[in-house]
Amino acid sequence: MERFDAIVVGAGAAGMFCAAQAGQAGCRVLLVDNGKKPGRKILMSGGGRCNFTNMYVEPAAYLSQNPHFCKSALARYTQWDFIDLVGKHGIAWHEKTLGQLFCDDAADQIVKMLVDECEKGNVTMRLRTEILSVERDDDGYTLQLNGETVAAKKLVIASGGLSMPGLGATPFGYKIAEQFGLKVLPTRAGLVPFTLHKPLLEQLQVLSGVSVPAVITAEDGTVFRESLLFTHRGLSGPAVLQISSYWQSGEYVSINLLPECDLDAFLNEQRSAHPNQSLKNTLAMQLPKRLVECLQQLGQIPDVTLKQLNMRDQQTLVETLTEWRVQPNGTEGYRTAEVTLGGVDTNELSSRTMEARNVPGLYFIGEVMDVTGWLGGYNFQWAWSSAWACAQALVEE
Ligand SMILES: Cc1cc2nc3c(=O)[nH]c(=O)nc-3n(C[C@H](O)[C@H](O)[C@H](O)COP(=O)(O)OP(=O)(O)OC[C@H]3O[C@@H](n4cnc5c(N)ncnc54)[C@H](O)[C@@H]3O)c2cc1C
Repeated sequence: MERFDAIVVGAGAAGMFCAAQAGQAGCRVLLVDNGKKPGRKILMSGGGRCNFTNMYVEPAAYLSQNPHFCKSALARYTQWDFIDLVGKHGIAWHEKTLGQLFCDDAADQIVKMLVDECEKGNVTMRLRTEILSVERDDDGYTLQLNGETVAAKKLVIASGGLSMPGLGATPFGYKIAEQFGLKVLPTRAGLVPFTLHKPLLEQLQVLSGVSVPAVITAEDGTVFRESLLFTHRGLSGPAVLQISSYWQSGEYVSINLLPECDLDAFLNEQRSAHPNQSLKNTLAMQLPKRLVECLQQLGQIPDVTLKQLNMRDQQTLVETLTEWRVQPNGTEGYRTAEVTLGGVDTNELSSRTMEARNVPGLYFIGEVMDVTGWLGGYNFQWAWSSAWACAQALVEE
């Protein structure tokens, strides 16, 4: 039986970074993953360019039942630390929008960087490996893998959440938490497109591919201003993905399709200048033509000229376009979700070390726990920060 100082389960963002850091500080680390290659989500991320962090990382950008939990790790290993590492590896990057940082070339540069960092730390990596059982005794943890038994004093669970089972996601981390008596909070898909109920879906399907800037508000008052995309299944785009993490089944969202325009003032101004202009053509100056035509067919935009539009109808129109209330049917679920909300209850863990308070030597990092970031590089930053905090603890003790 081979013994290590620490075994890390999951060669994703958090697992690789933690293993590399601990290895470089002198720990003998085994990194285990069920996949053929490490960092599969990283490769898919950011449209293939990996949105690896965000310039405006702050605790308020994370959802958790314990909103304070993420503060310590985010403050100790910041976005600037990771940007520095990316720079040391000669990876060129750019800011796209809202502080989101992407590789200029491709996401595999980040995976290569993490693999190189693991090699620098002499990390032993075992891919295509299933963990059949985990047992704990006074010496630490013994894992039965397919083919061999391995043991270590410390066990780090970095197996991620349930999103994208096609990329190797499994409930392994939650099962281990439960095995050792830790509470796991209910999970659900986050950063995920909405599906719509049938009549509305059929009416809007012609808009598939149309994108508009929007302000979207959840029932709890959370607001995002980003673009919204109509799809053949419902609604997507950054604004929708963001609000989906704040949406509960059965709730409505309110959508302003014209956040950059004072529609009432615009219509009054146009009426004075061009009274015989059709309302449809006037609105097409502010919204995609396909959207205007669709809304007219649905009876939401009257077929009139501006001088024929009375003030009551104008008010209704303004409300329709700026406070469009939609009740999603549901979400596309884990199949397309970028993240999993909920997970291992952070009240069970130390925010400094990520170690389970009542199970010495057992650590959870990354998405497996109940910390979920906004879209825009926040989730990878949580992976880096929580992994770093854990690695310091593995080395200290
Ligand atoms: C398509 C997509 C795009 C994304 N884009 C971005 C982005 O641009 N920016 C951003 O910040 N976030 C993005 N995310 C979210 C981000 O990928 C995750 O939050 C992050 O990868 C979580 O890191 P992690 O290490 O905790 O888990 P993961 O990266 O999911 O790694 C977990 C690893 O554990 C392995 N594993 C699971 N179960 C087992 C098991 N039973 N045995 C052995 N190994 C196991 C998995 O194979 C995987 O390699 C995206 C997610 C998706 C799905």
